[in-house]
Amino acid sequence: MQQKKLAVAIFFSLLSGVTYAQDNVKWGYEGNIGPAHWGELSKEFATCKTGQVQAPIDIPSKAASTASAPIATSYSASAGEIVNNGHTIQVNLPNAGSAKLGAADYKFLQFHLHTPAEEKIDGMGFPFNAHLVHQSADGKLAVIGIFFKEGGENAALKPIFAAMPSAEGKVSLAANFSLNALFPPSLAYYNYSGSLTTPGCNEGVSFFILKTPVEMSSAQLTQFKNIFPLNARPIMPLNGRTITESN
Ligand SMILES: [Zn+2]
Repeated sequence: MQQKKLAVAIFFSLLSGVTYAQDNVKWGYEGNIGPAHWGELSKEFATCKTGQVQAPIDIPSKAASTASAPIATSYSASAGEIVNNGHTIQVNLPNAGSAKLGAADYKFLQFHLHTPAEEKIDGMGFPFNAHLVHQSADGKLAVIGIFFKEGGENAALKPIFAAMPSAEGKVSLAANFSLNALFPPSLAYYNYSGSLTTPGCNEGVSFFILKTPVEMSSAQLTQFKNIFPLNARPIMPLNGRTITESN
């Protein structure tokens, strides 16, 4: 039991993005501390190597069955903070509301950003994605994934990108942030069971990957890449997982 409690504590400290299981364990996206080595960097990262339901995946759309309930969000604009945790830009919105994902209700915690996008669909990648992390009352995690393609400037990202720290640190959001502004018009999604895509790669995370991308400008993409040129874990094996989808 004690060990389980400790694991949970580590899990959530990782999620906060500010404190880490072991502050002295450096990890990254390239070279000796890159994804291929995560599982060897620390005992607490072992699942990165041994896990069988890891994220991200390349979603095979033809294998998906249409069994999943629609997403129902009830978000409200809220105050928060923008964190550069050394691995991504993360926006913590502790009072942003909740979403019904599958059969359960999940409280929104934070969203963070990856370039290139971590998931793929039928081998097709996107230049950028957001992961919106939610947690149920019993501690389970669910993540909504939103793909970004290059196009018009993304208005929802503007206040984030105007203030995001280029070095590790955090700032308060200048105005309340509306999560709804991040979403595409359709909430149709693919659902798969996976893991955190950062060490310790803890499993039991349910992903709801929206099929419809939103747009961001090439200038916005460049601005993010100037801070994080690459912060996406490579595709992990599907290992026979079932994908469901909603239309
Ligand atoms: Zn992520």
